Formats: sequence, structure tokens, C-alpha cells
Amino acid sequence: MSTAVDIAVVGAGAAGLAAAVSAARAGCTTMLLDQRPAAGGTGGFSGLTTLCGLYDDAGKFLNGGFAREFAEALAERPSPDRPEPGAASRQRADREMGAPIKMGRVWVLSYRPETFRARAAQLISSTPNLRAHWHAPLQSVVAENGRITRVNDFAVGVVIDCSGGAEVARLVDAECLATDATTQAPAVVFPLDGVTREFNSAADVAQVLLPLARAGFPPLNFQASLERDQLTVKFTGAPEAVRPLIEFLRANIGGFENCATPLKEFAPTPRAGRMIVGQYVLTGTDVLAGRKFPDAVARCAWPVEQWGADGVARFQYLPPGAHYEIPARSLRAARVENLFMAGKTLSADVAAIASARVMGCCLATGAAAGQLAAQYLQSPPRK
Ligand SMILES: Cc1cc2nc3c(=O)[nH]c(=O)nc-3n(C[C@H](O)[C@H](O)[C@H](O)COP(=O)(O)OP(=O)(O)OC[C@H]3O[C@@H](n4cnc5c(N)ncnc54)[C@H](O)[C@@H]3O)c2cc1C
Repeated sequence: MSTAVDIAVVGAGAAGLAAAVSAARAGCTTMLLDQRPAAGGTGGFSGLTTLCGLYDDAGKFLNGGFAREFAEALAERPSPDRPEPGAASRQRADREMGAPIKMGRVWVLSYRPETFRARAAQLISSTPNLRAHWHAPLQSVVAENGRITRVNDFAVGVVIDCSGGAEVARLVDAECLATDATTQAPAVVFPLDGVTREFNSAADVAQVLLPLARAGFPPLNFQASLERDQLTVKFTGAPEAVRPLIEFLRANIGGFENCATPLKEFAPTPRAGRMIVGQYVLTGTDVLAGRKFPDAVARCAWPVEQWGADGVARFQYLPPGAHYEIPARSLRAARVENLFMAGKTLSADVAAIASARVMGCCLATGAAAGQLAAQYLQSPPRK
């Protein structure tokens, strides 16, 4: 039997979650579908533990609305009997309460992936007008006269493509731009437990990374985790190189003697996605110039972060204090009347998406796409 919904959101990562909840809150019957068993996408399922792109240079929220609401919902509420003495414990307690932490020149939020999934599930189940479908791969999209009319078994008014790979756009042949491993190398993300070494500065990190590089290991970086004595590792080497890497750390680096990962298997997570060509294509020049737009719907200040095929990250920062804006036109497909997009599918060139793909920005563009889609349905533009 076939049913109808106002808005179909494909993909339940940071962008799709924000889009679906925002569209439903605006009064539209909304369907959220994902091939996974639950909401979370890359942020909930890949082992990442830092949410980037939420803050400006001073650690203040760049976007209000859903992005801020979800970030605040990720804060743990440590029980009063938890606090332990010591600077590291205090820092962790601060982070658990949702305080941003400074990582080099940028501010990030530490979170637990299971909390990301749990808060996403709570939001979805408590939002009227919103129905989620799990284990539900996108199977078919029907377009007639430049408009999408059906997604899988549903008649739809508007579609928001938050699939990361522009899967809706692919099925209706909408024009897309692709990234690949030469602009964004994939990484194996895994937790490393039993690390007692303290990292208080970039120099402390360099003291660990230098011997690894000298020993010929591909680049990696460490990020703080909310778990005691745990780091999150993003390793640009092959999955087979993870075990030798851990052995090397145990044998050669102080504070890593007892490190181990609970994971049994390792797989690379792709950073690259596909961007749908929209009514405006955000460029790397816009990003680095901190450009503003009259139809701005989201803000971001994350640097252009490109991980090359050599596994080396190149960061290009905005000027101090600057942020750029994302226009509504970058969330609306150029040639398919009722197709919107957000997150990694945003209309952006390879340099701009290397900044705008971080999760804080995906939450903000997702929320904006949900609201724009609802406005479009409630008053479609005259031709
Ligand atoms: C190695 C790595 C490290 C990163 N580090 C960070 C970091 O530290 N901090 C940060 O903020 N960002 C980081 N990022 C970037 C960030 O995680 C992603 O860009 C962001 O999560 C993308 O969100 P999204 O909602 O656009 O897409 P995704 O989270 O990828 O969600 C897309 C969803 O669509 C679903 N989907 C796809 N195809 C189909 C289909 N055919 N049918 C049904 N469902 C489908 C998927 O199952 C998925 O749930 C990192 C990315 C990588 C790969």
C-alpha cells in the first residue's frame, strides 16, 4: 500500500536528524529513512568522539536552534559521587558537562557516540509528525517534470538528501560534485584504552607522533575522549597496520605501555562524499574570506581541513575572529525543484566542503534545510 508524506529525509546522520526534527516541528509530516538500524550516521557509529564546527574562535556557539540544542543534549550529567581529585579528572568532568575544549586553534565538544545515538533516538521518538524507518535503504526515486514525486513506497512533497553520498540525487541524475581519496583520505577510527600519558600541549602530542613518523607509520592524530585513560585515534594507514602501530606504542612510548583497543576489526571510514550542485555553490574562497550572504541560514568557522592521499592533513584557517555564512541557495538543488540537501551533500566545492562537512555545521545546515523545505511546502515559489 502506498502512503503520502510532506517531507522525506534520506540519511539519519547529524544533518538528517536535524533536518527531520526541524521539518516535523514546522508542522510537516516527515519520514526519516536510513539503511542503518538507528539514527547517528558517522557521528554515532564510527567511533568519533569530538564534535567540530560548533564554536567560534572564542569557544562561543556560532549557531543557535537545533545545533545548539543537540550539542547541549550531548552533555553527560556526572553523578555527584563521580568527581575524583586531579587536573585530568577535573578536565574530564568539565567536558562531560558539555564545556568546549580548545584543540590547537579551534574549539570542539567531546561526546560519547552512544549518547549521540541515544539523544537522537529520544528526539525522534518525541517529535510529533516524525516517523523513522530503519534498515530502510533508499530503493527508488521517481521524478516527473523536474520534481520528485515518490521515494520508495511514499508519495512525497519535498525530499532532503542527507545521505552523505547524494544517493537521492544519484537516482534522479541531479548534477553532483565528487571528492575522492586525493582530496580527502579515509581514516581508521578506533579507541585506545590504558593510555596514562598526559597531553597538555601540541608539543606533548608531537613527542609521541614524531617517533611514529620516524618508524614509518602513516600519519594519525589523537583526540580526547570522555572515558578515563582513553584516546580516540584517527589513523590514515591501512587497517592491517593498526596492530603493529599499537605494538610500537606499547614498546616505545612512555604512558602507552598498557594501551590496547577493544575493537577486533578495523575498517576505514570515508571522509569524502558527493555534493549536489545547488542554486549557489559555496567555494573555498568564500570560506577563507569569511563571506556573508543576504540569504544566510548557517554559520561556520572551521578551517579547510584536507587529508591528502599521502595521509597528511593540510589546514587553512579563516582570519582570527572570522566566520563564514552558508546561503539558503546552497541547500536547494539547482535543477530539481523540490530537492534540498544538507551536511556532506551541501552544494559546495571540494575546498568548502573540507570545512563545512564537520558535524556542528551538518547540524546547522540540516536544521536550516528542514525549515526551508517546510517553508517551500507551505508557500511554493511562483513560477
Ligand atoms: C575519519 C573521519 C574523521 C572525522 N572526524 C570528525 C570529527 O572529529 N569531528 C567532526 O565534527 N566531524 C568529523 N568528521 C566529519 C563528519 O563526521 C561527517 O562529515 C559528518 O558526520 C557527516 O554527517 P552527515 O549527516 O552529512 O552524513 P552521515 O553522518 O554520513 O550520515 C549519512 C546517513 O545516510 C545513510 N545512508 C547513506 N546511503 C543511504 C541509502 N542509500 N539508503 C538509506 N540510508 C543511506 C547512512 O547510513 C548514514 O546514516 C570525520 C569524518 C571522517 C570520515
